[in-house]
Amino acid sequence: MSLGEFEIIARYFTRRYERSDVLLGVGDDAAVLEQPPDRKLVVAVDTIIAGVHFPEGTDAADVGYRALAVNLSDIAAMGAQPRWMTLSLSVPSPDERWLAGFAAGLFALAERHDVALVGGDTVRGPLVITVQIGGWVEPDGWLTRSGGRPGDLLFVSGTPGEAAAGLATIQRGVEGGEAGAYLRRRFLRPEPRVDLGRRLRTFASAAMDVSDGLLTDAEKLAAASGCGAVIDVDALPASQPMRTLFDADFCVRSQLAGGDDYELLFTMPPQRCAALAERIGGAIAATQIGVLTVERGVRCERGGRRFTIPSGGYDHFARMQGAP
Ligand code: ADP
Ligand code: MG
Repeated sequence: MSLGEFEIIARYFTRRYERSDVLLGVGDDAAVLEQPPDRKLVVAVDTIIAGVHFPEGTDAADVGYRALAVNLSDIAAMGAQPRWMTLSLSVPSPDERWLAGFAAGLFALAERHDVALVGGDTVRGPLVITVQIGGWVEPDGWLTRSGGRPGDLLFVSGTPGEAAAGLATIQRGVEGGEAGAYLRRRFLRPEPRVDLGRRLRTFASAAMDVSDGLLTDAEKLAAASGCGAVIDVDALPASQPMRTLFDADFCVRSQLAGGDDYELLFTMPPQRCAALAERIGGAIAATQIGVLTVERGVRCERGGRRFTIPSGGYDHFARMQGAP
């Protein structure tokens, strides 16, 4: 790279950490990290590609934020504590403004979660960003997709569908006033539910993060748990900003099939529900949207009748998410 790989790394990706668990960080051949005693190592990796996982031309700071947010969301879904990350960055050109913006977005979120960047790789190529994240979890339990049982109640945090609605406003060039700005922020700056995951760690029977769409991800959780599920469409948390800008069919499609929410989907036996609100505190609202069933597969119901997602309308979902 013309700016020089070393200059890019030194200028944008080298930070001094007060943290005593980073024994050796950026600048050597590998990082050396200290794990707290009696903790299990938790590792995840996620890649985001321009034009696939975010629109070309997305603000660099939003791209930096997203690269870490999607990984933090995976750590949250395990009930784990994030600690460090490595960054593999492929950029078409060493554009300093872009790099500065990217680093600002990445580190803003990293600092909020006290995650240290301890190494990486920088190459010229199409805009592709891979973050690997590591952290720890207590040995007495972590969240999995497979712990659900028939009869467990199914919950989701936040307001699924808003990110897809925000993406739709970008793709359709709709400004949409305050509601549009709110929805775009939900897409561009998803809030990884790390605190909620920590609180659910020994409480939920199963959990995963919702990245591909509520229905698809509920199917994954239910299948991993050897169950099926019924989702009550009327129980889905409603989004006023989404209703302001979109019709009812679009809203329900976004809620059930829209991606990029990075909320937590989780289950628990009914007898634990009374304690849930206290357990999750003011962290974030969680809504009961269904129940796990013996019968396999996930079906949606509305007013006790089977419900299928209305087809037609705007098909943003296939374009941005899913297909590798
Ligand atoms: P090597 O020659 O061993 O592959 P590099 O020259 O690629 O090492 O990288 C030098 C140092 O900078 C290493 O410590 C590496 O982890 C770090 N590094 C490279 N790119 C990044 C990046 N985008 N973010 C953080 N650290 C990086
Ligand atoms: Mg290298």
